[in-house]
Amino acid sequence: MQQITVLGSGVLGSQIAFQSAYHGKDVVVYDVDARVLDRLPERWAYLAAQYRQDLGDATPERLDAAVARLRTTTDLADAVGDADLVIEAVPEVLDIKRETWAAVGAAAPERTIFATNSSTLLPRAIADATGRPDRFLALHFANNIWLQNTAEVMGHAGTEPACSDAVAQFAEEIGMVVIRVQKEQPGYVLNSLLVPFLTAASKLYVRGVADVETIDLTWRKATGAPLGPFQIYDVIGMQTPYHLSRSSDDPDQQQFAEILKRDYIDQGKLGRSTGQGFYDY
Ligand code: NAD
Repeated sequence: MQQITVLGSGVLGSQIAFQSAYHGKDVVVYDVDARVLDRLPERWAYLAAQYRQDLGDATPERLDAAVARLRTTTDLADAVGDADLVIEAVPEVLDIKRETWAAVGAAAPERTIFATNSSTLLPRAIADATGRPDRFLALHFANNIWLQNTAEVMGHAGTEPACSDAVAQFAEEIGMVVIRVQKEQPGYVLNSLLVPFLTAASKLYVRGVADVETIDLTWRKATGAPLGPFQIYDVIGMQTPYHLSRSSDDPDQQQFAEILKRDYIDQGKLGRSTGQGFYDY
């Protein structure tokens, strides 16, 4: 698949678009907000600098060629009119996703395959809105796509297997390590493992069983893992764990949310991105 359209050009959409163009795809980037599109040249410059810093093969020529393969539009019909694959990264709100996909389904050619990057919604909650549920599945990237390069490919029960195969092949072509998820699963593989692990760590801490450094040291030494759970919290940043803990019925999780807010978020210690979190960087 060569003609790629990315819907939504925020944090993840811009990364998906840039990574695809970097690997030679022709990419149309769509957003409802023209101001977001106007600011994309700065975003491409930021991503190019990251690629230069982090990847051995990111020459200035290759990065310039990637930018030249990116086109932007606020016209949805124009955006999807010649797409082999549409990847949607609009806000994580079911109604916005379904409205967007209904419009795509009405405008895209028959051959187009449809993929959502949703982190928490299951494909079956969106598929029928497209009018072509058999061509719809999830293709889930992680933040900092050029480094944390997993791509989870997950259909719903009615997804045509050939569409899943084609999307997996595309993901490989743009440098991803493909994770095939065989059944619909909230959280895919990664978050199904990570969320309970991080929750267990927060309970040990809140209950005073061990301090942050000890919990992390135990995990690193005993398993050989490079990071302990609180080091991972610092990579993720405090906001998402705060919202997840706060919405839990578990008193330990409620207490953890209070600690995150009082001792970290309100102090501007959001994790690695701010230089301070559970650790100083
Ligand atoms: P974001 O808020 O940074 O970007 C969303 C973009 O969509 C914005 O540019 C906004 O202008 C645009 N938008 C709003 N309504 C739209 C519409 N109707 N049509 C087209 N564009 C519209 O969000 P994000 O963090 O990039 O997340 C996007 C999706 O990616 C979500 O489904 C999220 O679950 C998923 N995701 C996010 C991450 C992450 O770490 N941020 C990781 C994996 C997956």
